[in-house]
Amino acid sequence: MQPPGTEGPRGRAAEPRRSGSAADEPAPGGVLRRAAPANRPGARAGDESAPAACRRGALRAGHSHPGADPGAAQGHTRRAQTGASSDHARSDPGLGDRRPRDRAAPRKDRRTGTRVQGHELAPARIHQRAARRAGALAPGKSPATGPPHVHSGAVKRRELLKGAGAGLTLAIPAVRAATLLESRWDFIIVGAGTAGLPAAIHASRRGASVLMLEAADTLGGTLNMAMGQVSAGGTRLQDDQGIVDSPDRHFEDIMEITFGEADPEIVRRTVDLAPDTLNWLLDQGLVPLPGHPVTGAAPGRAGYSVPRYFWAEEAGRAILKVVLEELDREMPQGNIAIRTSTRVTGLLTSDSGAVEGVRAESGNEEWTFRGRHILLTNGGYAMNPDMFELLTGHPAYAAGSWPHSLGDGLDLAVSVGGWLRGQHLHRAGTGSILTGPKFPAKVYARFATVPQQRLPWEIWVNDAGQRFIREDEPLVRPRARAVLALPRLRYVIVFDENIFNSAPPGLPQFSREEFLAHCENHPMFARADSLDELAAAADVDADGLAQTVRDYNDAVASGADPLGREHLPEPIARPPFYAITHLGSSATSSTGVAVNDAHQVVRGNQETVPGLYAAGEVLGSGATLGSTFAPGMLLTPALSVGRWLGMTLPI
Ligand SMILES: Cc1cc2nc3c(=O)[nH]c(=O)nc-3n(C[C@H](O)[C@H](O)[C@H](O)COP(=O)(O)OP(=O)(O)OC[C@H]3O[C@@H](n4cnc5c(N)ncnc54)[C@H](O)[C@@H]3O)c2cc1C
Repeated sequence: MQPPGTEGPRGRAAEPRRSGSAADEPAPGGVLRRAAPANRPGARAGDESAPAACRRGALRAGHSHPGADPGAAQGHTRRAQTGASSDHARSDPGLGDRRPRDRAAPRKDRRTGTRVQGHELAPARIHQRAARRAGALAPGKSPATGPPHVHSGAVKRRELLKGAGAGLTLAIPAVRAATLLESRWDFIIVGAGTAGLPAAIHASRRGASVLMLEAADTLGGTLNMAMGQVSAGGTRLQDDQGIVDSPDRHFEDIMEITFGEADPEIVRRTVDLAPDTLNWLLDQGLVPLPGHPVTGAAPGRAGYSVPRYFWAEEAGRAILKVVLEELDREMPQGNIAIRTSTRVTGLLTSDSGAVEGVRAESGNEEWTFRGRHILLTNGGYAMNPDMFELLTGHPAYAAGSWPHSLGDGLDLAVSVGGWLRGQHLHRAGTGSILTGPKFPAKVYARFATVPQQRLPWEIWVNDAGQRFIREDEPLVRPRARAVLALPRLRYVIVFDENIFNSAPPGLPQFSREEFLAHCENHPMFARADSLDELAAAADVDADGLAQTVRDYNDAVASGADPLGREHLPEPIARPPFYAITHLGSSATSSTGVAVNDAHQVVRGNQETVPGLYAAGEVLGSGATLGSTFAPGMLLTPALSVGRWLGMTLPI
């Protein structure tokens, strides 16, 4: 199994076959593209006039393709938070070069990387010191000058799970350090999360040298908080239960569930790899919940045609546990080095535009590392409200994702001419009650809005005070699309005292007293003696709300609702009145980096960016979910494609 258009291990990469996945995207207007940098392959007419800052690449609203970016159309000027930028190669080749940020690099011995003046700490010494901390090297032995030292023990689990200090390098490849000083890493993996960890493990198994750089002080990324739901057609788990399934069937289901919006090439790659990936996890000890796999069907939402979806008691952490155990077993080979608390901020490129290294920051130090394959596995942008709004056109209300999901991978890809797609596939769910009206709010509670579970007694109104959907709409997709079409993704559930007293509670977790206390204290709840006052408290148009309530009460009286609602139990008439504000939000990122079918990052003109690959949520959730929800189709592709890149990229 290897990427089409590449040779096997140690073979020279041939020109990869171009994927339709990027080429088939709608032209600008539906996607955000970046012009290819001038003076590099792929530069197009007009690039010369692009501002230098634009060519350097950070994702900035003002520099995006005109007409393609709602943020730009709205006149945003904020810079994406990462500050990532591209940079031509200019430092010495080596394992890794470090210098204090914003200071000129001191001169170094080209052969050994040893400091000859200034404050630079020689890579050999850094690694020797860090190796000692990781228990890999005896004191006094330099990997560059002393006798070879075999890294014997596995890294302690607590060290894997949490770096002991800023910029700690875990499990230094002591044996290889001397030779690597004068060469480059086979793989530099940016982000030790869902996709990055399997990539490192499987690259190391082939003997590749792997440097994994992780911004957080802990490993695992979003796996630390995910539900851990994965899916594959043809797993050992299914076989054991006599469930007949295949990748083909999985593929057909996903394309149907996503209404054909998912990228067929990325889905195809994922479903083909998925059974092997999940069997690997099962073989390593992942224990699915009793009764699994399931179809993933929910009221108003289609699932898979056969049970192929499962998760474990400890959710994403159960997957992380078995992956870290695999990493633990691999570390003694001495092929993998991991630096935590190290954020990659830029890519090093050759004059021809190939990516051949990264620049990273750790504390107040800046490092450069060189490698043959640079893998962007550093997740999405759901925790970067500026980038979120720039790419989706909607505010990011909820902070429900991994704190380092800041969109650095998108910024890095764009900095070397990569382009982004999936902007039109944003999804915001059906709305929930948040802790407050602004980022970084958390999901606080969910009102029972699924009609199969509780028929609605309330009305839902938008900012204009108008109803926008029949509240008993049985299908999830029309409900979600109606929320997505709302200004500010915001609606308010309105009801009166009679409904409060007689309807089944929409928030059964709260007692009557607790609910009333929320109306006094919580920013998303309101109670008022008149509809006018309620409208003011809930920030909706008062005249609009008054007219809507009149119309709705007429519909209740006549039994015929203009929006087609069938459940019309009571008018909204008796004060006090109640309002609960709902906001649409997302914990994942729909837009992502365009790649070809070998997962190489591609430029706007479809040329590949040599040396640069991407996997996981950095590709955008739209690639595998479209604008809807396909069970397990973010974790499964991240794990599978990360693993596959580690197994197949030439070394
Ligand atoms: C609450 C929640 C529940 C979910 N549940 C499911 C589920 O059940 N099933 C499913 O399919 N999907 C689920 N998802 C989505 C899924 O978890 C993610 O899409 C997936 O884990 C992303 O994997 P990744 O490797 O791309 O990113 P991550 O796992 O987040 O890894 C990226 C890593 O890169 C690091 N990083 C970021 N920037 C840099 C940088 N500049 N330099 C170095 N390191 C960097 C991060 O710290 C992180 O460790 C869920 C998401 C959330 C938020």
